[in-house]
Amino acid sequence: MHRRVFSALIAIATLSSVPLAAQDSTLAAPGTFVLRAAHLIDGTGSPEIQNAAVVIVGDSITWVGPAANVKAPAGARTIDFGDATLLPGFIDAHVHLAGRELGDPEQEEAAVHDYDQYSAILGVNHAKSTLLDGFTSVRNVGAPNFDDMALRKAINANQIWGPRMENAGYAIGITGGHCDDNAYKPGLFDGSIKTGIADGPDQVRAAVRYMVKEGADVIKTCATGGVLSEGDAVGASQYTYEELKAMVDEATKLGRKVAAHAHGTEGIKTAVRAGVSSIEHGSFLDEEGAKMMAAKGTYLVPTLSAGEAVEKAANNGVLKGLRRQKALDAAKAMRNSVKIAKAAGVKIALGTDAGVGKHGTNAHEFTLMTTWGGLTPMESIVAGTSSAARLLGWDEHVGSLTAGKWADIVAVPGDPLKDITHMEHAMFVMKGGAIYKTPAVALHP
Ligand SMILES: [Zn+2]
Repeated sequence: MHRRVFSALIAIATLSSVPLAAQDSTLAAPGTFVLRAAHLIDGTGSPEIQNAAVVIVGDSITWVGPAANVKAPAGARTIDFGDATLLPGFIDAHVHLAGRELGDPEQEEAAVHDYDQYSAILGVNHAKSTLLDGFTSVRNVGAPNFDDMALRKAINANQIWGPRMENAGYAIGITGGHCDDNAYKPGLFDGSIKTGIADGPDQVRAAVRYMVKEGADVIKTCATGGVLSEGDAVGASQYTYEELKAMVDEATKLGRKVAAHAHGTEGIKTAVRAGVSSIEHGSFLDEEGAKMMAAKGTYLVPTLSAGEAVEKAANNGVLKGLRRQKALDAAKAMRNSVKIAKAAGVKIALGTDAGVGKHGTNAHEFTLMTTWGGLTPMESIVAGTSSAARLLGWDEHVGSLTAGKWADIVAVPGDPLKDITHMEHAMFVMKGGAIYKTPAVALHP
């Protein structure tokens, strides 16, 4: 990684017309660019354009179409990627940038051994590797210590590299539920609304207000049990309808959507009835639940990468006992849930649950949505671009290669419609017109 960035820097330094960023250490600051490639997928689901071009002025896209028709603005720098595909910046609707990853030997004890700031420091590297994997926007659905707010502030101030972040603060859940820290001696981790632990409609409303006060632009909740939590059944409902309804009402009043972690068949339906905007994981989704989601416009964020990661952890001994069994059950069920959702016409947005799986391999989810989930490569790409942008409420600015949108652009080698695994090899990443990753050769005229 270091060598690649270094050689790209040298390549840029020899081109006087490409301005070097003074403060923010991006490879190239926003300027005027014409990007050309053999293929272009705009993220809306429209057919691929062959021999395409995109014009970027400053932080915005000004033109998209066949390269034969492009009118390069004065002073534009042209980058031709050859046999590659231009795409909108990828969007991951379910990440946890802060904290240790599953499989880190010290992850289990982190809550008692790590300094509070340590998880945010780890998040700095996670944010960078996520961006360099092609993900220019993420929804961070749950972080300790409001680490997500600190990371976002540092990214937006150009102190560190990372994607645009939509943040939840702490996830909101019941005492002893999936969002709580359990199986410690009494008193060690007594939650409060300030750490997202809330029981009953009144506390739930107070917790929503507190997260919004601290900067949350989306509310995350744990509607059912989880795979990695100690002592709860993965499918068991945790919040009641009344509690979830109070949460959605309060969030809606404050202009926020609710993302509900839900594995269990009944818990999914309860959350959908209460009006959440997305079901996260949705492992044990059945046909009735899928029909309800389609009717209500509820998104499914399948997180198959997490399914693959916990299945591996169950098989290599990292997970044991109940958690091992829960992991195997959920991963097996997840292979069907996307197919059930697709058949019912449920809107699907890409999410990885990175933090459970490795950060910086988020694009593997595009592959899993086709191999496990049965989506076509085009459907998978739409899920990770325009569909995820709509779920985040950011579709006015990101999610497609369209004139007027922010210049968040990725290039991958070859044609991902022929081989979806090409999505896992982003060779060029631009966010807001600034370049963060580029093959050195592309910058030579
Ligand atoms: Zn998660």
